[in-house]
Amino acid sequence: MSCFNFEVITLFPKAFELINNLGVITRALDQNLIDVNLYDLREYGEGSYRQVDDKPYGGGAGMVLKPEPIYKAYESIRKFPKSKTLLMTPQGKVLKQKDLARWSTLDQIIIICGQYEGFDERVRCLADEEVSIGDYVLSGGEIPAITIINGLTRLIPGTLGDENSLVDESHNSFLLEYPHYTRPLIFREMKVPDVLVSGNHKEIKLWREEKSYERTLQRRNDLISSENDKKSKQSKSFQKDSDVLMKLFKKNEYEDDDHIWE
Ligand code: SAH
Repeated sequence: MSCFNFEVITLFPKAFELINNLGVITRALDQNLIDVNLYDLREYGEGSYRQVDDKPYGGGAGMVLKPEPIYKAYESIRKFPKSKTLLMTPQGKVLKQKDLARWSTLDQIIIICGQYEGFDERVRCLADEEVSIGDYVLSGGEIPAITIINGLTRLIPGTLGDENSLVDESHNSFLLEYPHYTRPLIFREMKVPDVLVSGNHKEIKLWREEKSYERTLQRRNDLISSENDKKSKQSKSFQKDSDVLMKLFKKNEYEDDDHIWE
């Protein structure tokens, strides 16, 4: 089986020790399904102080990562035929499950992590894509990079014990996943729904589908609206989905309120 290669340019390589204690991800490393190579930016720094950052031109707060060390580190990486370079930045496109799926068919991802105020603007042209993990600002690109390594590794064949776990999962389609229960049957007076212990697989499938829709309506109505916008333009399945949704709306009398489920 071929190995998926992550190459990470970072000023804080120690942050990546976390992936040595991360369950399935660590197993994937041990089984050589993935390889994570770290490029310590400090080693590519300039002068006897190995300088990697400097004050911003034009003044202002904070320090900016200099372009030369990042370029030097980048150019030292052996590029694979199917490779993409991702720049971690809160100004990037917000990461979605479909991005991880898209990248999982490559054989190499190069990740550039920023720090402090960020990086010199001339670093941007190294990147194929600029990625944000959400609309908030962190102090560095290491946690976003680990997020990508983690999310992508679970999609690599052989990583998860049972690949069926990937099928129904939240964000795979536009729906969130249905609720799960495990033993005991009754826990602090909360009972597992009868249908799940009925042994009737058809009923269980239906219940799960319905719960999936219901959950998405309650928590992430935006996912349904945007999917319906897409579908209503061309697809036949739109009518079927709308019917299911209308039934659920009527049954549960959902309000158009973002926080109804809290
Ligand atoms: N001054 C910058 C933010 C710098 S934060 C701005 O306003 O755009 C420092 C570094 O942390 C960034 O260069 C980036 O690599 C990383 N970072 C912070 N928040 C992030 C996010 N939401 N997604 C991805 N990377 C992020």
